[in-house]
Amino acid sequence: MLLQTGKAKHQRKTYLPFLSRLEALFEAMDQKYKEAAEYYGFYCEGCEDNCCRARFYHHSLLEYLYITEGCSTLSQDKQIKIKNKALEVCRQTDADENKGLTVRQMCPLNFGGLCILYHYRPMICRLHGIPHELHKPGQKITYGPGCDMFKKRCQGKNDFKFDRTPFYIEMAGLENELRQAVGFLKKLKMTVARMIAGSPIPF
Ligand code: SF4
Repeated sequence: MLLQTGKAKHQRKTYLPFLSRLEALFEAMDQKYKEAAEYYGFYCEGCEDNCCRARFYHHSLLEYLYITEGCSTLSQDKQIKIKNKALEVCRQTDADENKGLTVRQMCPLNFGGLCILYHYRPMICRLHGIPHELHKPGQKITYGPGCDMFKKRCQGKNDFKFDRTPFYIEMAGLENELRQAVGFLKKLKMTVARMIAGSPIPF
């Protein structure tokens, strides 16, 4: 379905090793997140303000290709279903935007409250919810709060140091290497819905 045509097909051999490295990086992120979640005793059990309705943008070719690989593991029926859902989400998003409304569309990969491509989900889906810090060179450390449910349940507990910086650095380095290898330099800014709905193939 996604990226199954022309040049992209030939590029697959080139980019697959990068996806293996991404997988290892995601495992390290998941492990750190797990440590933090255990420290706080914070486990996501779903909530009204479902973060799968948040309009997260993803900027890496790595995540795009990883989601694409995930989609290819699904049955044809399921692929068609999520593509139709994604098209509808994109249509509704445009309509809401044109009316000046806040966009809160459910991600097309969310089925009955669960992510059907959980293993392949993008970085922000893995890291959202728990407070973190970021060390940008030459700048003050920035701190991100947890989600609203985290604040309700865990406010007042001593902070667990969750520094996203090494993950972001490794991700950026890997993205750079991948882009050089496949010859793709354009900027990306896509929601999961837009990736699945079949936006122009990146390369
Ligand atoms: S990719 Fe999965 S975890 Fe991320 S928003 Fe979509 S359904 Fe939720």
